[in-house]
Amino acid sequence: MSPDLGLLVVLGVLGLLVGSFLNVCIYRLPRDRSVVFPASHCPSCEHPLRWYHNVPVISWLLLGGRCAFCRAPIAWRYPAVELLNAGLWVLHGLLFPLEPLLFVRIAFASALLVLFFTDLDCRILPNELTVGGTVAGLVAAAFVPPGLRSAVIGVLLGGGVLWATGAAYERLRGVEGMGMGDVKMLAMIGAVLGWPLMLLTLVWSSIAGGLLGAVLLAFKADARTTALPFGSFLAPAALAASLVGQPVVDWYLGFYR
Ligand SMILES: [Zn+2]
Repeated sequence: MSPDLGLLVVLGVLGLLVGSFLNVCIYRLPRDRSVVFPASHCPSCEHPLRWYHNVPVISWLLLGGRCAFCRAPIAWRYPAVELLNAGLWVLHGLLFPLEPLLFVRIAFASALLVLFFTDLDCRILPNELTVGGTVAGLVAAAFVPPGLRSAVIGVLLGGGVLWATGAAYERLRGVEGMGMGDVKMLAMIGAVLGWPLMLLTLVWSSIAGGLLGAVLLAFKADARTTALPFGSFLAPAALAASLVGQPVVDWYLGFYR
């Protein structure tokens, strides 16, 4: 399979435009604000932006990373999220054939990008993405891999395992170790990827979280009670599982045949 260069260019440009919208979602969804109204405006002076202030990456560069009206600095993360989303979409174009599954997986990648940042910023995993993504994932699974059966098992197992872990932790330690947002997010990952890749996501994110937790513990005495944003670990792990997880699952399941 040789990826069509035209397709990659289209994915890159659309990825930038959608990435611009993802910035709006990252800021507004955890604050329960509409992602449609009002139109984009400067967070400092609230001056509405004109369309040419809103061209992904390019406007930010031309304006020197400042608001066109009040000159307040605009975080470099805005163009970074746009570039990241475009890069992810192009990467999917390289790894997936031009079939409906490609569009399911790029939507999934963008949702994970938003969840990564909302959890990091606000410790919130918006229901619009977790519950909405679970429903959308189940509908899609009726038509594309992993298929409806694997998706339903993924939702029940993913949500169930994490909910049970959180409940056990709460009984042992008396503090909430796992938020319902994490439970719903893993259910969503199970709906889109199916149960084997969902379990791989859980393993990878736990390893990453455990390693970072150990590093924090080495430097900070209170790290044991510093809750890590688990959704920010689930997001890159799920992305990796979506892109390169299938051969790992096939290899592992090969031992049982
Ligand atoms: Zn301004």
